[in-house]
Parts: sequence; structure tokens; C-alpha cells
Amino acid sequence: MFKKILVANRGEIALRIQRACRELGVKAVMVYSEADRDAKYVKLADEAVCIGPAPSPLSYLNMPAIISAAEVTDAEAIHPGYGFLAENADFAERVEKSGFQFIGPTPDSIRIMGDKVSAKQAMIRAGVPCVPGSEGELPDDPVQIRRIARTVGYPVIIKAAGGGGGRGMRVVHTEAALVNAVQMTKAEATAAFGNPAVYMEKFLQNPRHIEIQVLADKHRNAVYLGERDCSMQRRHQKVIEEAPAPGIPRKLIERIGERCVAACKKIGYRGAGTFEFLYENGEFYFIEMNTRVQVEHPVTELITGVDIVRTQIMVAAGEKLPFTQRQIQINGHAIECRVNAEDPYKFTPSPGRITMWHAPGGPGVRVDSHAYTNYYVPPNYDSMIGKIIVHGDTREQALARMRTALMETVVEGINTNVPLHCELMVDANFVAGGTNIHYLEEWLAQRKR
Ligand code: ADP
Repeated sequence: MFKKILVANRGEIALRIQRACRELGVKAVMVYSEADRDAKYVKLADEAVCIGPAPSPLSYLNMPAIISAAEVTDAEAIHPGYGFLAENADFAERVEKSGFQFIGPTPDSIRIMGDKVSAKQAMIRAGVPCVPGSEGELPDDPVQIRRIARTVGYPVIIKAAGGGGGRGMRVVHTEAALVNAVQMTKAEATAAFGNPAVYMEKFLQNPRHIEIQVLADKHRNAVYLGERDCSMQRRHQKVIEEAPAPGIPRKLIERIGERCVAACKKIGYRGAGTFEFLYENGEFYFIEMNTRVQVEHPVTELITGVDIVRTQIMVAAGEKLPFTQRQIQINGHAIECRVNAEDPYKFTPSPGRITMWHAPGGPGVRVDSHAYTNYYVPPNYDSMIGKIIVHGDTREQALARMRTALMETVVEGINTNVPLHCELMVDANFVAGGTNIHYLEEWLAQRKR
């Protein structure tokens, strides 16, 4: 096992990784920007290094500063968390070339999965079902683009190969709008991701977003830890996640889970990863793979009892997975609400000083957050300030626990989306389970009227 790990991230995930290190008896070096000087995990750190000013390009995306911090503190490995450099293959490569272990898959795996076109091609080869669409990148020729769309069938969605975070996507309903939409998505993709490549998929009308969590070691062992339902989204961004997915037959989950495990073995995947699917009419369609720990990993931890972050560290250190597929059992139901510093209905960010913070507790309640009373939420980063996660024997119990937990939550001084979560936890359709990816947007549109 490593003696010391550098955590190249901020916020709740930095604290989560620090906790996993503590449990393993590994020292954690925290890095921070000038805006995060007062963060709790920085104060609690074994060691902490300031890596630059508030803007992310100068700090959390600053590869030389992060690698130097690992050098001066004698860390052996770097955990990238999620976001920032977590899925940057060049960073993983630089980390390894500098003599540190990158806690994640190989740079090659990250590179293949980071380009959604090459990811889909790899999945097709590995026998994972994908959304029907263009075979690879779209050509420039309008005639060919129209022909591909006719074969795929309208509506179609144009997606950036290098896209992420719900950006770089455009739905097209008619041939008249097609070529212009492709050009606009290409322009956006170039500006946002530095990669003009776009591809086309059939736009599924009412799918659910279902994802499979995998863990793999360096000895070709891989398991899947069931699924998560992340269909409650706004602007393609997840708001509520739960596991297991209500109403999907276990047989179907097992079948797709086994495909994911087989794909991991085929591509030599190691570490934690998530295969994301759209699910419609009993079929799964792969959309992308995330080669890192996800925000919503706790719901899986609560229903399987597996500590995903701890296991990430163990397998990066060369240890074998400490469990087999047979030992992975699903127990009860878990739900996560992402707590964002924002206006709950206008969604404008609400940074600033938290004058009062009271986190909920009690049986089956877990709060992953770096916030505290008097913490200043900097305006420079993502608005998520924590996650409330609950576990119950049944979905009904989990829902009841979430309602109580949300009621107990106090955040003063800034706005949060807790009121939105309170409303959704009693919404008849959400309570019934199985809502699709458009549900939350439709619900919000209706609420306005
Ligand atoms: P990102 O990497 O930006 O998160 P994804 O490919 O994972 O992009 O897609 C994000 C979300 O966009 C999905 O969860 C789904 O809501 C929607 N989406 C993506 N592809 C399709 C599709 N072919 N049909 C319908 N919705 C889609």
C-alpha cells in the first residue's frame, strides 16, 4: 500500500478521498487554490500545498503545479477525483512519467473513452449494445450527412466526440434543420473542447439513464456493482440518483452488467468506471464510459457495502479486488440528492458565506459535504456543495428517510436547491418510480405556469 497520496481535487470529493486514505492508514496531501484556503479538508490535512490562484486553469487544472506538489511532499500516487483533470489522458501520462501512480485506468483507456466516437467503437467490438447512429465521426458533406440521418431516422441528436458535462449536444427533428445544426455543434465543440468532431445518434424519446458501476484490478479481475438510475436530470445534468433502478428486471441488469465486465476484461480496464446507458423498452444502449469515480458513487456503496474510493486506491497499489462477483449482494435502496448553491427554481448560482449549516443525521443517513457554518462558497467552481444520501430496506423507507433528512437540513446565508428536492420527494410520479430523463424538465416547466 502507498504511504502517501496526493489528492488533486477540491470540495466534497477531496474530503471523501481524504477519509478513505485515513481509514487505510495512508497520508493524504491536499492541494488547494487561494479560494479554498479555508476548506475543512485543508485544515484537517496531514499536509497541504497551495497550487495557485482561484481560477481553475491556474490551480486545479495546472498540471506542473500539481506534479511539483507531489514531488515536494514525496507522495507516491495521485487521486484525481472527478472533474478537473480526472479524465485527462495527458495528465495521467504525465503523472506516470513523473514516477507517480495515477489512481485510475491507463492513459490509453482514458484516451479511448474520452473520445465518445472511439468509445462507442470499442464497445461495439466488445459486444456492448450502443445507441444506433453514425458509424464514427460525421463527414463534412451535407449530402452524406442527410443520408446518414435518413438511415438513423429522425429525431436525431448531434453530439460532440469530446463533449462532457451535458454540453455539446443538439436535437434535430427535421431534415431542414440538420446541416445547420451539425455546423453549430461543430463550432461549439471546437470552442468548448478543442475538438470539432461530432457524431450522430438516434434521439431516444423517453429513455431512462441507467449506469453500471464497475471495479477492476491489474490482474484482469473485474466486477460490476449493480446499477444506478440517474434519470432525474436538468439540462443533461444529474440532480437525483438512486439504486437499484425501480422496476427493471434483475435479469436484464445481470445481462448488461456481465457485458460490462467482459468489456473491461477485453480492454484491460483497471480502477473504477461507469458504463452509462439509455434504457428504453427493455433495451440498454451505451452512450459513454466515465473512467473515474462518479459524484453518485455513494448510492452504490450503500446498497453493496463496497467502499469504491478505498477499492480504487487498493487496486492502484496493485492489490487484487477483495471480492468476487458472487460476493456482491444488493441490499435495500439508496437515494442521493445533490445539494447545489443555487436558486432552487431559477438555477442561478448562489455563492457566498454560509451563516448556518446543519446537516441531517439518524439511521441510514449519510452526508458527503465539505461545508460548515461560516464556510464561504467561492464563486469560481461548480455549485455543488454536498450530497445527502439515504439508505433504507425498501425504496419507500429510503424516500421517507430522505424527506426527514431534507427537513432537518439547514443552510442559511446562501440559496440552495433543498426546497426543490423537498417537492420532488413527494411528487407522485417520482414516488411511483421509473420517470424518464425528460421528467424533471417537464415538471419544472409545468411548475412555472
Ligand atoms: P455528457 O458526457 O455530456 O454527460 P452523455 O453522452 O452522457 O453526455 O449524455 C448526457 C445526457 O444527454 C444523457 O443522460 C441523456 O439525458 C441525454 N442524451 C444523450 N444521448 C442521447 C440520445 N441518443 N437520445 C436521448 N437523449 C440523449
